[in-house]
Amino acid sequence: MNLMLSEKELEKYEHLLLNENMLFELNAIPQMVVNKDRIIIRANKKFIELFGYSSEEILGKQTLTLTPSKEKFEEYRKHFIHTKEGIIKSEELEYKKKDGSLFWVKLEGNPINQQEQELFILWSFIDVTKEVHYREELKRLASTDPMTNLYNRRYFNELVQTIVQLDIRNTKATSVLILDIDKFKSVNDTYGHKVGDDVIIALAKVLKYSVRESDIVSRWGGEEFVVLLPETGSSDSVLVAEKLRHAVTMLEMSAEDGITFHFSISVGVSEINYNEEDSLESAINKADKALYEAKESGRNRVKLFTT
Ligand code: GH3
Ligand code: MG
Ligand code: MG
Repeated sequence: MNLMLSEKELEKYEHLLLNENMLFELNAIPQMVVNKDRIIIRANKKFIELFGYSSEEILGKQTLTLTPSKEKFEEYRKHFIHTKEGIIKSEELEYKKKDGSLFWVKLEGNPINQQEQELFILWSFIDVTKEVHYREELKRLASTDPMTNLYNRRYFNELVQTIVQLDIRNTKATSVLILDIDKFKSVNDTYGHKVGDDVIIALAKVLKYSVRESDIVSRWGGEEFVVLLPETGSSDSVLVAEKLRHAVTMLEMSAEDGITFHFSISVGVSEINYNEEDSLESAINKADKALYEAKESGRNRVKLFTT
């Protein structure tokens, strides 16, 4: 077998390969050509398949048709960089198919600058939807507690730092609550660990649905929860804590054989003191001291930290 091609033979192939239309059509990567006004003037087979528009529907339209919104269409301009080689590359961007479904791509643009003629760009769409979803899922797994779907302690600490900084800058009060289930050991001992888990899940739901959207709820440990209340001073925080404590006493839990029971929580409250160095950590420690007092003075109550 001849593993080398003569120049003459190569020329023959070159002629074939120069049939750019065919190469464009057969390319496994979705591609389009746009003019300087971002109007689509060519689209290959894979592109048509990807977006779900027919050639008639998409040719002559602005790329606005492909973006999730007009705002995104304008904003996307900022997400392209021009490399030294003259290629344009995008970050991961979200695009929209004809049926409205969204997907993620990275775009690569090659300017087609035929002498003296109008400038066109050949855009290739590299589908990165799987990677983006996988990364989001990893992030979710790393930041939440699987049992309650609340943020875990590590992520809470990371997340609230920025919120606390913002409240410091705006000289707004921020408070923290620590909640702990009363006599939880006896719930486990009496009704079993599984029912104990149900109690934790039920409490998590009450917390999640009773606070404002801007409040941050986390599972701090086994049956302990920490809530950050931005833009909230201590007296309002005590009211929030009371509301939560009361809501929990209203929950009716079910154990085996139709047995029902109630449970309670104790809550420690403290306001962040912005004059301290690690104000968040120290506020949590203070709330913990107040929680201890709440337990000592009989449980099922709210205590505000006082010096
Ligand atoms: P106190 O009123 O003083 O808080 O009494 P307590 O019995 O609640 O005491 P403590 O806080 O020390 O006990 C917590 C118990 O919670 C111990 C642990 O076995 C149980 N626990 C921690 N995490 C879980 C969990 O995910 N599921 C269940 N079912 N139990 C848990
Ligand atoms: Mg505890
Ligand atoms: Mg407890």
